[in-house]
Amino acid sequence: MIDTALWHLELKNYWVTFLRFIFPANCLLCHQTLLLDEAVLCSSCFDHLPRLKHPQCQKCALEIPPYHHAATNVCQDCRNEKRFFDQGTAFYRYQDGMKTLMRAAKFNGMPWAFKVFKPDFQQTLTPLPIAQYDMIVPVPLDWWRVRQRDYNQAHLLAAYLERGGQTPRIRQALLRSRHRQPQSLLNREQRKENLRNLFRVDKKIPVHGKTILLVDDVVTTGATMNECARTLKQHGAKRVDFVALARTVTL
Ligand SMILES: [Zn+2]
Ligand SMILES: [Zn+2]
Repeated sequence: MIDTALWHLELKNYWVTFLRFIFPANCLLCHQTLLLDEAVLCSSCFDHLPRLKHPQCQKCALEIPPYHHAATNVCQDCRNEKRFFDQGTAFYRYQDGMKTLMRAAKFNGMPWAFKVFKPDFQQTLTPLPIAQYDMIVPVPLDWWRVRQRDYNQAHLLAAYLERGGQTPRIRQALLRSRHRQPQSLLNREQRKENLRNLFRVDKKIPVHGKTILLVDDVVTTGATMNECARTLKQHGAKRVDFVALARTVTL
């Protein structure tokens, strides 16, 4: 008897091969023609994406020098400033190819480009085992950006954390109040001021006593993540951790 599922897979492979033959795809970074089993990036560019090195700050995932880590596993910023999140994880340095790729994905309408990171999200060790979170909350975007872009990349990445039945639900528990100045144009102090009371909790989603995992694409100073965590804790959240795709290394 022919195994129908296998047969379908074969057919799908033929179909993909055929389409690739007619419309060859190129690597988003080096522009070379992709092989049939590659998507978005060629394997060489993918292997060269800058991964964050260990040790990292236990709170905000910033790389810290080993000699510094020996004394404390928390970075200078996390010791000087009140951090409302408990622990965070990130995979890549927000620089070089990573920056180019993320900018292309966000600003040129290529949400599918994020798909190359799905394995990272599926294999990642979140600060707590994933099943221990009550909900996964994507950091919200300005409504006009969602309209412009048609998707929120944080939501897209949150969906990659899916691991069968044990994954907590993705809940849009945070709402973004109004559009402020883009954070990228501001210095550290201005960023903090710009963020004050930017987020609010959706009253329909109770966060009191909950253990929450925030998800975003990139963490720069950690100010946005901190403000999200502050808002959730203000409403009684018990613990707030985060997972981000990339982290800046120098500010
Ligand atoms: Zn390439
Ligand atoms: Zn830190």
